Amino acid sequence: MNQPQRFITAPAVAFDLAAIQADFPILREPVRGGRLAYLDNGATTQKPEVVLQSLDGYYRHQNANVHRAVHDLAERATTAYEGARDRIAAFFKATREEIVFTRGTTEAINLVAYSFLEPRLQPGDEILLTGMEHHSNIVPWQLVAARRGAKVIAAPVTDSGEVDLAAWRALLSPRTKMVAIVQVSNTLGTINPVAEMIAEAHARGIPVLVDGAQAIAHLAVDVTTLDADFYACSAHKAYGPTGFGVLYAKREHLEAMTPWQGGGDMIRTVSFEGSTWNDVPYKFEAGTPDISGAIGFATALEFITRLGIDAIAAHEHRLLEEGTRRLGGIEGLRIIGTAPHKGAIISFVMDCAHPQDIGTILDQDGVAVRTGHHCTMPLMQRFNVPATVRASMAVYNDSTDLEQLERSLYKVRRLFA
Ligand code: PLP
Repeated sequence: MNQPQRFITAPAVAFDLAAIQADFPILREPVRGGRLAYLDNGATTQKPEVVLQSLDGYYRHQNANVHRAVHDLAERATTAYEGARDRIAAFFKATREEIVFTRGTTEAINLVAYSFLEPRLQPGDEILLTGMEHHSNIVPWQLVAARRGAKVIAAPVTDSGEVDLAAWRALLSPRTKMVAIVQVSNTLGTINPVAEMIAEAHARGIPVLVDGAQAIAHLAVDVTTLDADFYACSAHKAYGPTGFGVLYAKREHLEAMTPWQGGGDMIRTVSFEGSTWNDVPYKFEAGTPDISGAIGFATALEFITRLGIDAIAAHEHRLLEEGTRRLGGIEGLRIIGTAPHKGAIISFVMDCAHPQDIGTILDQDGVAVRTGHHCTMPLMQRFNVPATVRASMAVYNDSTDLEQLERSLYKVRRLFA
């Protein structure tokens, strides 16, 4: 076969895809003089009208600094900002005290590494990761481990791109002081059995952080049922703005932790003799926050809720199946990450061309994908590839996007094979 295949993705549930697409103005933006097929959602998603309007509306009608003034605009800003915390807490089925605002997943993980883990680490202790972690869920642990003479270890990944659970289990030991797991791999798409892994770690008294960066926009997340000690995510991968994210943490942990950054808002009293800390979660939020980021994220999460996470997941699963079939028909193309339980992410290599060259050809045809190591260098080593091409889907993608991708990949073959 050397032609794009024809697929009709009939929605299984009421799902007005055309209306959803119309809600994302950037999807109408011509690129390279043609139609955009945006398949780089693992890096960041596009933003719906309602999120754009919430950001614009904040700066037009509410902008002032929060928490520290009595004037009307400051009250509006504070009400909107703290209201956003309630809306975000409701999405995660958590309490507002458990929702710490951060710059994103990366900062949330660093906060836990420095503020929670480092004071508890002794020489010889271990932090157990998996072989499919993003650098953001590796390097912060390495930094604190180095300061304490502790060690980061990782469970191996199988050929299909799953955590080798037996090996992971065998690595849990009295030395393990922290477990950190990605819920959905940004490179392989694998959905890890985090609930099961959390239960197993907890049975040994080990706290667990879940990296939910690639999960919250694609599957139902209930952090309290999951029983994660910490859950980190970024707004921009879930239809919200960049530079904002959330750390969910169990209240008892936050109460016991000392602040990791000092400044305004995180204090109760300050004197030159010493300072005392604000209540949780504020004691972890030093300085003027990203006010519009919080409002935009709350709006984005409500956008997800309104569409229905199950309907989103079903739609994306159909895209994954269709994309896998389309790409599977291309000679010399190998998909990396074939776990049965996968999110809508397809990473691949081709025998005829380097991922960078493939990405360049795709770009000429208006197909936006990511090429490189995707901040998962250990996975590249595991699969013995320098890089992959990654197509990652979101709610607004459709068969036309996949056909555009497939057509362009046939062109790659014609040019390079
Ligand atoms: N974890 C995973 C699985 C990711 O995919 C990413 C971003 O690509 C991150 C962490 C880091 O997210 P951020 O750069 O928004 O902090």
